[in-house]
Amino acid sequence: MRRIGKPDRIVIIGGGISGLSSAFYLQREAERQGKDIEITIVDGAPAFGGKINTLQRDGFVIEKGPDSFLARKLAIIDLATELGLENELTTTNPGAKKTYILHERKLFPMPPGLVLGIPTEIGPFVKTGLLSWGGKLRALMDLVIPVRKDESDESLGGFLERRVGNQVMRRIAEPLLAGIYAGDLKKLSLQATFPQFGASERKHGSLIRGMQHNRKATAAANSLPAVAKGGTFLTFKGGLSTLVNALDQALSKAHRRLGTKVLEIKRHTGSSDASHDELSSELQAARYEVVLDSGESLLADRIVMTAPAYDAADLLEPLTDCHELRGINYVSVANVVMAFDKATFGLDFDGSGFVVPRSEGLHITACTWTSNKWLHTSPDDRVLLRCYVGRSGDEESVRLPDAELIKAVRRDIEETMGIKANPLFTEITRLPRSMPQYPVGHLTNMKALRDRLEKELPGIWITGAAFDGVGLPDCIRQGKEAAQAILQ
Ligand code: FAD
Repeated sequence: MRRIGKPDRIVIIGGGISGLSSAFYLQREAERQGKDIEITIVDGAPAFGGKINTLQRDGFVIEKGPDSFLARKLAIIDLATELGLENELTTTNPGAKKTYILHERKLFPMPPGLVLGIPTEIGPFVKTGLLSWGGKLRALMDLVIPVRKDESDESLGGFLERRVGNQVMRRIAEPLLAGIYAGDLKKLSLQATFPQFGASERKHGSLIRGMQHNRKATAAANSLPAVAKGGTFLTFKGGLSTLVNALDQALSKAHRRLGTKVLEIKRHTGSSDASHDELSSELQAARYEVVLDSGESLLADRIVMTAPAYDAADLLEPLTDCHELRGINYVSVANVVMAFDKATFGLDFDGSGFVVPRSEGLHITACTWTSNKWLHTSPDDRVLLRCYVGRSGDEESVRLPDAELIKAVRRDIEETMGIKANPLFTEITRLPRSMPQYPVGHLTNMKALRDRLEKELPGIWITGAAFDGVGLPDCIRQGKEAAQAILQ
């Protein structure tokens, strides 16, 4: 049902990076195609950004959510360029390339050539003290053990254990990949998280050989724009909120409803009230009514849903079956940022930080030496550390009262690095149910859900971190795809 001669009303639920990107590309594409649309973005939070939240404090740039993005995933660089932000991009300190892994309370440098936890250079891998000889041999058996015939999805942990063994999985891959999913690898879908691993096995008969090949191919392709060649990770000098603020400004024509949640989506039944003729005809023409907790109702011809799966399920379940959304579990995490005076800190860093395997039994899952990894984040005479807490099956620490959480984290950094200095200040950020865990079968589940929505709730699009990639560039790509699909 379309309103002749009137703009299509599109309501975007969620003003995180997925919602803002959808809005940006909708606005831009509609202008290009000469289509008239009316966009309204609704978010329960008082400001845009969702998980992205940069704090500027005492000369520090502090990220309370994500802190950077993968340079090789170009959707975010394209967006930054369109927004005129390419000169705001910055990369990691070239002098801080080393990353450490904690093992039996000692920090071991990550062996060179490790890609996503998989060895692509055998020499340094064989020399690492992180694994026993048995563990190394088991990993190298990947070069000869047969390929799995069944191409159906399996768990990421099961796959890694099968190919490179339990030690590599638990001591290296899981803590490294925890930064992305905070997950239990045995519960995550291989196909939805690292499909390139499975493809490597099938194409090269071995994960190690496949990753070696991919690494060489990426280096040879050299097709990345100059800005993406500076380092593996990029961010903005003023923090990731730079991107959010630029999107906010660029969305000149979009309406905003901030600090108000969507309570309900009503499928429009076509009821009319004869005493309000104009309003009634508007209502009849709309497919949906989006009810806000402010008491307001928005009429919508199309809806872009970017809320986390559990919020999306609350809103869509009364309209149709969406059990697949309930199957996506979310892990709660927190981070504790501590600023120190360099003069009294008592330690010099030669890398970017370390990750902590589950078996170490600490509260922290990783510690970024932020002031050394990202030089723009701190005044020269200061040190900034960011400690991460919480992962799948170990979320109690996230709920500790502030004083106890700080005590636990300080105990961990003293035990691992010998840091006894008192912080100048501490910033705690808790992100309850923030890390989606794509279950085995996720891709099939999402396809089934999208097909059902298309039939039963035409005009409603679901997109964002819960669906097809959690990284910022993936969310932007999904926002763009949603915009293109809507305008087709
Ligand atoms: P969100 O940012 O969650 O936005 C969804 C929005 O929907 C929220 O603002 C919420 O308020 C709103 N909403 C929900 N329900 C309703 C409702 N009923 N009515 C109105 N509004 C509603 N990725 C990287 O690439 N690099 C990193 O370094 C990185 N680090 C991360 C660190 C942490 C601690 C976390 C949690 C994630 C990290 N990620 C990182 C992942 C990335 O930040 C997220 O996947 C991404 O920001 C999600 O964006 P989104 O718009 O899909 O969802």
